[in-house]
Amino acid sequence: MMKVPLLDLKAQYQTIRDEVLSVTKDIFEAQLFILGKHVDKLEEEIAAYCQVKFAVGVSSGTDALLISLMAAGIGPGDEVITSPYTFFATVGSIVRVGARPVFVDIEEDTYNIDPQAIRDKITSRTRAIIPVHLYGQCCDMEPIMELARAHDIVVIEDAAQAIGAEYKDRRAGCMGDMGCFSFFPSKNLGAFGDGGMVTTSSDALSEKLKILRVHGSHPKYYHKVIGGNFRLDALQAAIILVKLPYLDGWTAGRQANAQNYRELFKAEGLDDFIKLPVEKNGRHIYNQFVISVQSQRDELRQFLSEAGIGTEVYYPVPMHQQPCFADLNAKQGDFPVAETAAMETLALPIYAELSDEQQAYVVQKIKEFCSS
Ligand SMILES: *Cc1c(COP(=O)(O)O)cnc(C)c1O
Repeated sequence: MMKVPLLDLKAQYQTIRDEVLSVTKDIFEAQLFILGKHVDKLEEEIAAYCQVKFAVGVSSGTDALLISLMAAGIGPGDEVITSPYTFFATVGSIVRVGARPVFVDIEEDTYNIDPQAIRDKITSRTRAIIPVHLYGQCCDMEPIMELARAHDIVVIEDAAQAIGAEYKDRRAGCMGDMGCFSFFPSKNLGAFGDGGMVTTSSDALSEKLKILRVHGSHPKYYHKVIGGNFRLDALQAAIILVKLPYLDGWTAGRQANAQNYRELFKAEGLDDFIKLPVEKNGRHIYNQFVISVQSQRDELRQFLSEAGIGTEVYYPVPMHQQPCFADLNAKQGDFPVAETAAMETLALPIYAELSDEQQAYVVQKIKEFCSS
């Protein structure tokens, strides 16, 4: 039986092994592990890649969100608008700074926050909007930025899944006041552990972020504000520096695989049963290739699993239905598009090293399921 994992990081590692071993050896010899020159260099390169003036390396994508909210001064009494259809960290971070998440439903085609629905949720307490560029495709940022500017609201892009994604030629992370990135291993630019980055073109915010990431210490051992340990490791930075020059090639591989899936689904006549990802507004980097099936999604997932094919549901429970956010008093039916997406979506393998044979096998198996 053919095996098609959802993601095969071992295949990628084979292509960069020698370079990675060489830089990590240098760091072991130097015994300098926290921040330092590799982090400085990575910050410069990510800033250039993301079309911003500054980038600040942090300990994870989650901490990127948390420290951004802290730098923006968001806290108790404040409301932050975001999507209910995202990874937990987006919403968890809002609550951790003491603010209240306010959800806005998503668009049916992209699964990204619906800009038109944001306006109705803006109150005198709204201090920030966190658009999440889900699956590697940017939100419709123009109307979001217009609303934010008109109401003096901070925009923090959750670009954890979207490094290098573009909206009208502008990169994810350069449109809002800050952009948050994750180097979690399964992201398109993954470290060998946890890591993250905040991008900004504001001198003042970049200064604040750098102080907050070392417990608010400035100068050392003098604290005007309370921060945390949000530092990025030298090892992770050095590994990401090795990977960065390959990123556009890997993205091109993912895009080619997406195109190949489209042709295969069409050739098999499956495009009527299966909703394929919709590309809008610019460069989609396909962190995930997410299809939607109107019924029997879980049965399809089980069938594929038995055929050796890895898939995942991002995400099975929207944030407004998570038990830990019950005090927000959201009801079933409040965000119907997100609730439907949670029942119907399924991510297929899309990593760059995936072969044509593997893709054909995935589509063949889906066809088998649909015609049974
Ligand atoms: C992965 C992810 C995060 C969190 O990143 P970590 O590095 O795992 O902490 C936040 N938001 C979204 C949308 C993500 O996909």
